[in-house]
Amino acid sequence: MNSWKFSKSTNKDVEFFTIPAFDETGGVKHCFTTRIGGVSAPPYESLNLGTRTEDSRQNVFKNYEIICKALDIDVKNLVLSHQTHSDNILIACNEHRGNGIFYDTRFSEIDGLITNKKDVALVTFYADCVPIFILDKKRRVIALAHSGWRGTVKKIGKKVIDRMISAFNTEPKDCVIGIGPSIGKCCYEVDDYVINQFKDSYSTTEEFIKEKGKGKYHLDLWEANKLSILESGVPYSNISISGICTRCNNDLFFSYRGENGKTGRMAAIIQLI
Ligand SMILES: [Zn+2]
Repeated sequence: MNSWKFSKSTNKDVEFFTIPAFDETGGVKHCFTTRIGGVSAPPYESLNLGTRTEDSRQNVFKNYEIICKALDIDVKNLVLSHQTHSDNILIACNEHRGNGIFYDTRFSEIDGLITNKKDVALVTFYADCVPIFILDKKRRVIALAHSGWRGTVKKIGKKVIDRMISAFNTEPKDCVIGIGPSIGKCCYEVDDYVINQFKDSYSTTEEFIKEKGKGKYHLDLWEANKLSILESGVPYSNISISGICTRCNNDLFFSYRGENGKTGRMAAIIQLI
């Protein structure tokens, strides 16, 4: 299993994570942002990329300019998702560029984005939910999935891979996967309402649910997402898990649970080179 590396851009104080297995391909620009290096004031301090927060639009736009400069991505290429914890997936094309940033969103209820276009940069948002990065190295197709507990129940990661298979003839063995920073099992306590849905959706749950008593459970979203991705046929050795908890590292990340919902958003960003 690969580990993540923490890299810092050379000419900006912006900090972000990249996935070594993705960097090694030389085929993508990508990152998972932190909260470090932007212009927003508390509680959005400072690199808030959430356009649907109460932060000023001007600050959020400036933050996009900062991260795009650090990644050498044209801000005009960005396609922002419109997340609602659904399992709906969009194949993004050139006509979607600027969606959600230069104009109001032209699609809604999209938690998975896929593209094979070179000048389309995919963007999804996070504050504790799980970011899933997907790259088909052979056919040069990229994807992102926003997988909170609801998305994990719906196996959105697997569904995105299934869609890549049907739309682009992707073979799972050619895919590398990154499961990014999110709330870890250390901090994620849920109740029977959540657990029962996992039991309906997954044939086995012992690997990712630990009972704590009194109707409370610790839920490991990284492990659950890994299991659903393995179901799609992607080899175990192609999956990188960050192992970084956003709530434990609140100085580095926005955390919805850690900050009672009043906080900014990190982004997963990826573009083909
Ligand atoms: Zn934690």
